[in-house]
Amino acid sequence: MYMSIASKSSLRHIYKTVSGHSNKMRNTIILILIFCLFGCSSDRPEKYDLAISNVNLIDGTGKSMKTNVSIGIRGGKIVTIDSSTIERAKSVIDGTGKFLIPGLFDCHVHTNDFESDFPKYVHYGVTSIFITGGSLCTNEYYASMRAHGNQDTIPAPIVFHTSQHFTMAGRHPMKTYVGKWFDGKSVFLLKDTLQIEALAKEVTQYPIVGIKLTIEDGPHPPWVERMPQRFVNKVQKEAIKNDTEVFAHVSDNIELEMAMDAGIKNIVHWTGIDLDFQRDTVLIDKIYRVRPSFITTLMIDKGFLYPLFPEWIEALRREKVFDEEYWARADNPNFIARAEDNIRFWKDYFQKEEIKLEDIASFQVDDIKVLYEDGILFALGTDTGFFVLPGYSLHEEMQLFELGGMDQLNIIKMATLNAAKMMHAQDSLGSIEDGKIANMILLDRNPLKKISNTLAINTVIKRGKIQKRIEK
Ligand SMILES: [Zn+2]
Repeated sequence: MYMSIASKSSLRHIYKTVSGHSNKMRNTIILILIFCLFGCSSDRPEKYDLAISNVNLIDGTGKSMKTNVSIGIRGGKIVTIDSSTIERAKSVIDGTGKFLIPGLFDCHVHTNDFESDFPKYVHYGVTSIFITGGSLCTNEYYASMRAHGNQDTIPAPIVFHTSQHFTMAGRHPMKTYVGKWFDGKSVFLLKDTLQIEALAKEVTQYPIVGIKLTIEDGPHPPWVERMPQRFVNKVQKEAIKNDTEVFAHVSDNIELEMAMDAGIKNIVHWTGIDLDFQRDTVLIDKIYRVRPSFITTLMIDKGFLYPLFPEWIEALRREKVFDEEYWARADNPNFIARAEDNIRFWKDYFQKEEIKLEDIASFQVDDIKVLYEDGILFALGTDTGFFVLPGYSLHEEMQLFELGGMDQLNIIKMATLNAAKMMHAQDSLGSIEDGKIANMILLDRNPLKKISNTLAINTVIKRGKIQKRIEK
């Protein structure tokens, strides 16, 4: 708090004019005057730490855009949203002609180098992430990622995470990523159902959103036996007993049905699921009975194809955020072979000679839209790895949904409020509403015209503070 020079001299002047009165009366008048100077003058403390004035607001709830809105932020939270211009703020951003959306939320993240990855998320406006296990994800590694998310000096998203993977020996993810896992530390290899009781108790001592359970017969040959249904049921039962939820990794309709039979409420991948609403009535009935939430991860399919599409790599290169090692992967013969395998798979699947990204996006978005319109919750996630990159790929995920025919307001909602709902954090995160944490992105172009305009980022704000972005 401070007094301006003008205020100080007027105080001196008043002091002189009242100095003829008795001491007691003079002191009282001075006290009142001082109170008035601090309490009523324009020198009183600013009402807001940060304000954004006259902006076009897309609040993340799915409601249509509001024009000429001003947002007042104090103590890291949104405290005012109205149509009058805010002036009394320590700093004001003129939002004229700009678009404000909530900070994005990637609901399926892995990282083996969070110190390098976290600033990239923030650079791309991803202010919250959900980490669903990983080979390094011991309790200590999770704790240091959470700590990073909770400070404001180094750019880092707010971190939510599952437990370590619950799986079985010889299965995914150790089968897929050989030799990197630590049983009892970054993965729990289930041997019998009895063991699950103690394990569920153990992992719920930590601030997890839920237990990560991997039901998977692949993902690549040689195929393995799936986790028996009784193990899946037992994990779900013990999760409920410990007041938590299960986040199941499934890779096809059969595994989805196993998860539904156990009553599991969260599915971490849409990838591999393909519903025929005429044929799959049994499974669809089960989905509507359990009403699970789904994370999308359409990016997995695009990621595998990257080495065959030089224009995607060129777009990535133009971003100047990722090192050469990222696109050097495109020259790796193994990755090229895998991409060609994938293309062959899609040609066969669609019975088409030429495969477009649109085909891959729309057959999935078509199914998702039916469930979504019936109130099933979908949150966007990317499953970072290979050519699915920190921050940038969540924008690609949104573009895939647009390509598949989803409208932009709902795409933004899936990347913000729906993700917060899945984390049960919707009271504090996910939308631009009164009382919520001020995580938001100011855009130079309208994302409702074209969703790729979410990449026209002007400013990223996390907990009311402007974030440092990567210099290009
Ligand atoms: Zn994953």
